[in-house]
Amino acid sequence: MQSCPVCGGNAPVSALLPAGDIAARLKDELGAAVPESMTIADYAMRQCSACGLVFADPMLAGDASYYRWVTAFPHYHAEDRWEWGVVRRVLAERGKTRLLELGCGEGRFLASLASFADVEAEGIDLSEGDVAAALARGVKARCLSLQDAILEPARFDVIFMSHVLEHVEDPLGIVAGCKRLLTPGGEIVFSVPYSPTSREYRELDIMNLPPHHLTRWNMNSLKRLAEIAGLQLGYEMRKPKSLLKRTLRHTVESVTGKPTRTGTLRTLAILASHPGVFSDALKLHRSREKVGGRRAADEILVRLKTT
Ligand SMILES: [Zn+2]
Repeated sequence: MQSCPVCGGNAPVSALLPAGDIAARLKDELGAAVPESMTIADYAMRQCSACGLVFADPMLAGDASYYRWVTAFPHYHAEDRWEWGVVRRVLAERGKTRLLELGCGEGRFLASLASFADVEAEGIDLSEGDVAAALARGVKARCLSLQDAILEPARFDVIFMSHVLEHVEDPLGIVAGCKRLLTPGGEIVFSVPYSPTSREYRELDIMNLPPHHLTRWNMNSLKRLAEIAGLQLGYEMRKPKSLLKRTLRHTVESVTGKPTRTGTLRTLAILASHPGVFSDALKLHRSREKVGGRRAADEILVRLKTT
């Protein structure tokens, strides 16, 4: 796809990402070689000159074998996430709510709603294994695509997606489909990484690139998504990591050439011997984009409300 999947704007190539580079960087990141049976495409990254969305060309998600491989690494599935707490707060404020989680995975978020007597929650996911794990957890879940779910009557007040939209080939279609399932006054609530993230100063994070993530979102592209879908945009952003922490990490990684965790003494030694690197990193992180009056964090929770 050469035009923006959200606004249709012109989108020149901003970077090339050959399959061989992706495989090498996934191996570095995850500590295991990509299985030979797995096919990865050659991608380019494009940036929309109208809304700023950065997206993969082709808009081709990792296939089932990719997701089987990547989700098997320990810690792939979070036990809890910042935005789940925000959504629980939203639900507590709403009172009686019918909630659908799209891409519910193994049902951890849904299980965290067990004490919410006013919330009738259910999930759908494309992975049979994940749905089986969710059912074993005692939550209501079905193996169903959104395309099939939208054939059912609109009955949800909140549709939640936790880190789903950046993985899908048609984000606008997903949002439009969710909208059709909402009751009047309902809302779609979703979290995505806010790109570039604070760890992407040396190079873009391979886990925030295809085949893992197909789209990279910023405030302009989220605004356009809301406008085009005919929904009202709201958002919450988690507190960003401190400027000092970001700058120290950047300095250490620039000097050592790789993401490393160093002790305090080693960090101090690196700072003392590379003061120029530290001050350049400080300048860069000070100039990071501001959202809502403060420096952007690495994740955003978006609320798209019916008007
Ligand atoms: Zn666009």
